[in-house]
Amino acid sequence: MSEITAPVSSRKIRFDDSFESFSRLWNLILDSRNRISSTRSRVIAKWRLFPPEIIFSMGATPYDLLLHEGLVTTKDDEINTSKYAIEAGLSADCCPWNLSAVSKILSKENDSDIDMFLAAAGFCDMSSKSWQTMARRIGKPFYSIEIPPFNFESENNAVSFILQELSSMFNRLSRRRGYKFSEERLLEEIKKGNYIRNLLSDITEFLSTQSVPVSALEYFLIQASAGDYLQDPDITGPILNRIKTEIESRNKNGETAPGIQDGATRIYFVGMAPQQLGFWNLIEDCGGVSVGCDTYLSLFYELIPEHTNVQKELAKWIWRMPHNIPSIERSKILTSYIKKQNPDAVIIGNLVGCRNFSQSDRIVKETIREELGIPVTSLELGASDEDITLLEPHIRSLIDMCK
Ligand code: SF4
Repeated sequence: MSEITAPVSSRKIRFDDSFESFSRLWNLILDSRNRISSTRSRVIAKWRLFPPEIIFSMGATPYDLLLHEGLVTTKDDEINTSKYAIEAGLSADCCPWNLSAVSKILSKENDSDIDMFLAAAGFCDMSSKSWQTMARRIGKPFYSIEIPPFNFESENNAVSFILQELSSMFNRLSRRRGYKFSEERLLEEIKKGNYIRNLLSDITEFLSTQSVPVSALEYFLIQASAGDYLQDPDITGPILNRIKTEIESRNKNGETAPGIQDGATRIYFVGMAPQQLGFWNLIEDCGGVSVGCDTYLSLFYELIPEHTNVQKELAKWIWRMPHNIPSIERSKILTSYIKKQNPDAVIIGNLVGCRNFSQSDRIVKETIREELGIPVTSLELGASDEDITLLEPHIRSLIDMCK
């Protein structure tokens, strides 16, 4: 394992430097900001869990704005804070992902590479508001697509509604942007996305084994590539495939990733991840091992059917995305995914300023406890390295309890 001192946050981040195929993915993540400035297609800033193939099918490049502008990876990022976001009218109580992403975009107000802001209203209203604020300040279009919340009894109406939302988005953008929608192009992009979905599911499955072959930090970043396929599924897909092959070979040899202690407590993480990557190292430093997390699970929870009626299938898939399902049902569905990973304990992350998960925290906690009979704890995730370091006793006591 190597301790990298740059580019990192002030807390040293430890990478597994024997994991050769991963370094290419990490470089792609770090280079995303530069890549969008050189792309010839339009760049559409998307909310984290909006399926990227929709944007690719419009001949544009998706940009997972919270990931690329919100992740704390360099010392420069520490200047982010919230200055520009608050000046633009966002509340200081907003979640740190939105505060830093908005601040970074507005700090280069006259020099932004983003051509349009696309929000998915219905789940994260805070992000919709941020997107609107950024669009207004830098004079770029804002478009919002509404997703009704999941309800078993309203499938037909909800799917028709999403279908209409998708069609009107395709029509409106076609008119404004001179792009022509085609079902074939959408299907082609969905197939590329499904290839990545399959790889992410396979990689996740390896974490369910006794000797976990991937460290927590690397797994989180691998999963995060689902946000926008790092601007090019034709590049990211083959890299993920190489990652899978390397993990598979470790698995065949019964190898555990470096840094994971013998008999480590198996932890599943639920909720929005903190911005500080050091959090993932902390799980291992405390004697745990990450066996999965659901931050981006909604994007690869299952494949999008590759049928002829592609828009309708996509609408159904969007409606059933786990984050769109109300608390009780979501907890039950989530529990079935968690169970597959054989955890000893579950950590629920409550990010400061995020109301979406804290409201359902108790229900999720009780359901997981009842269904799996394992310890579940909630962590209040702050916005600084110091906040993350303060979590150590809490994580340690959870892990000690499981031994
Ligand atoms: S942390 Fe919460 S408020 Fe922030 S982007 Fe995620 S869901 Fe939205």
